Amino acid sequence: MKLNEIDQEVAEALNHELSREQTGLEMIPSENFVSEAVLEALGSIGTNKYSEGYPGARYYGGCEWVDVIENLARDRAKALFGVTHANVQPASGCAANIATMFALLEPGDTLMGMNLFYGGHMTHGLPVNFSGRYYKSIQYTSTKDGTMDFGQMMSLALEHKPKLVIVGATAYPRIIDWQKAREVADAVGAFLMADVAHVAGLIVSGDHPSPVGIADVITTTTHKTLRGPRGAMILCNGNPSTPLKKVEVTRENIPTLIDRAIIPGIQGGPHNHQTAAIAVALKEAAQPDFKEYGHQIVKNAKTLAAVLTRQGFELVTGGTDNHLMVVNLTNKNVSGKQVEHALGLAGITVNKNTVPFEPRTPFDPSGIRLGTPALTTRGMKEAEMETIGGWIDEAIVNWSDEAKLASIKTAVKEMTSRFPLYVGLKY
Ligand SMILES: *Cc1c(COP(=O)(O)O)cnc(C)c1O
Repeated sequence: MKLNEIDQEVAEALNHELSREQTGLEMIPSENFVSEAVLEALGSIGTNKYSEGYPGARYYGGCEWVDVIENLARDRAKALFGVTHANVQPASGCAANIATMFALLEPGDTLMGMNLFYGGHMTHGLPVNFSGRYYKSIQYTSTKDGTMDFGQMMSLALEHKPKLVIVGATAYPRIIDWQKAREVADAVGAFLMADVAHVAGLIVSGDHPSPVGIADVITTTTHKTLRGPRGAMILCNGNPSTPLKKVEVTRENIPTLIDRAIIPGIQGGPHNHQTAAIAVALKEAAQPDFKEYGHQIVKNAKTLAAVLTRQGFELVTGGTDNHLMVVNLTNKNVSGKQVEHALGLAGITVNKNTVPFEPRTPFDPSGIRLGTPALTTRGMKEAEMETIGGWIDEAIVNWSDEAKLASIKTAVKEMTSRFPLYVGLKY
């Protein structure tokens, strides 16, 4: 039986979500729209199979075809990023990061990462997260203008001697200098983990430098700029050793340590439908037009940043080099929460965000975070960014005027109808 015959409630909610995605402007920088091929693989019978272990070394029978799928995903990941080892099993970005810490650290060891409220991720040592609770967490921040503070990073490292340095961000609009982070890690003999969740697609397109050859371990989600299904990968160099031998925590052993951290460390059965969809997404990302896609994401972000700056908005670090920007709304006398709500009524989806040295609270912060990956997937270019920048300004100036916001929503709907998404799809 089809979904809409067996469960109309779920089908109806999915149809509403589909229509929300089709008729609105999706500007949350961590979101994207996967291709129909990726969707098809994700909705496949791969979900039925248990296959704990790795290709050629499973704890279950009947794995010959999921081995093919996982090998395709692993080989494509290795070729695309230029590494010799890829683990494609982490269920999500958080799981990839937890596995890396589980692989390299003992409980109580010291790690150092960027503070969430300055653009880092909660898995980089936020006290209420696993990473801040089970390890001693040292947090670096940014300089007054919002750029990553490598000076502070170095002095904190020398003082606290972390065993793991984490670099990477979730709300950071500038190029990250992986080499500077390497110098900090080397100064204290620490491992360096680069979390490229947000910029993975831009690394593939050459719009952001790659940490390959610099970081010891690279973690990434597959569903952000990389435009794959929800999922993650851990990339490194070296080769895993044969199972069951005890391995020391050394640089050479990282591939083995990572594989064992995923299973039996923190996960059970791989999500084979997800792995199949990751394989498809990696094939798509290896095509020449993906490079164009990455370049356009950045062009769009720079255009939008210029439009907003012209309208008197203050951007953290003064602009963007990548796919996102953080707008500090303090000079507009409105909060991030109010703006998130107002833009939502105007059909523009964004998320509220803290700004460096946040004077308010994370639940009602001073900023919003805006990104262009999803709009770029729809085919929007600089001209649309000009128009959208104008609507964002209009919506923020009139944040409490619901009639005005509804009229912007009508215009948004008209624009999105010119950039079709999932034509003919229905649940
Ligand atoms: C999104 C993100 C993650 C977590 O990914 P989930 O799939 O949401 O668990 C980890 N690190 C960074 C830097 C991210 O941006």
